[in-house]
Amino acid sequence: MRRIFAANWKMHVAPDEARAYVRTFLDRYAGMPDRTVWFFPPALSLEATAQGIAGRHDLLVGAQDIYWEPKGAFTGAVSAPLVKAAGASAVLVGHSARRHVFGESDEATGRKVRAALAEALTPVLCVGEKLDEREAGQAFAVVTRQLGAALDGLDATTLGKVVIAYEPVWAIGTGRNATPGDAAEMHRHIRAWLTSHDASHTAVLYGGSVNKGNAADLLKERELDGVLVGGASLDPEGWAALVRTGAA
Ligand code: PEP
Repeated sequence: MRRIFAANWKMHVAPDEARAYVRTFLDRYAGMPDRTVWFFPPALSLEATAQGIAGRHDLLVGAQDIYWEPKGAFTGAVSAPLVKAAGASAVLVGHSARRHVFGESDEATGRKVRAALAEALTPVLCVGEKLDEREAGQAFAVVTRQLGAALDGLDATTLGKVVIAYEPVWAIGTGRNATPGDAAEMHRHIRAWLTSHDASHTAVLYGGSVNKGNAADLLKERELDGVLVGGASLDPEGWAALVRTGAA
């Protein structure tokens, strides 16, 4: 499986900035056979980013969120068909900002996963516990609940089309990453859940304050199929260097 380096630009990078970003990134990163790079710009910059990377089959663009209905009177929302038309081939679902800033429920994540799959978009389901939950010894139970709520009922083949990102909430944007050992332990837990559902081809990423300084240590853990990176993906040169982590 090729490792995935995913960049979540959050609410940054306007269309013109995306065009400039991609030009710089392409200058600095020619591609590597063992990895792919995924960009999650704000919806407004999807098209510019997708146009910028056209022709590079190791790069793809995804949306940060969708609503589950395909169209209708849902002011302010974007649907799976809309982001697909703008060039997306993946979508984040249940990012901690959606769950904990915008109050998204477990049930909503399940609907969004299905809406993404119906449009042949790869859902990147984000799961992860809050600090109080970790301190109360509930981290594994929380992640199990989030996996079940979003994925129960999908068959093994369909689960192979999903990507999971383990992002402990206390590590996102805080500068405090999980240790490689802690990340790997949760990845084994997620892998066990997938195996119990007969799914063996589902990629599991780690996210939470990954940067150039800690990516190599994290990625030494073979359980990690890649990383989902926010802050450290905003500078195209720094991101190109991070994407080359582990290169000879
Ligand atoms: C994220 O936004 O998914 C994320 C992991 O952010 P950061 O790398 O800034 O912690």
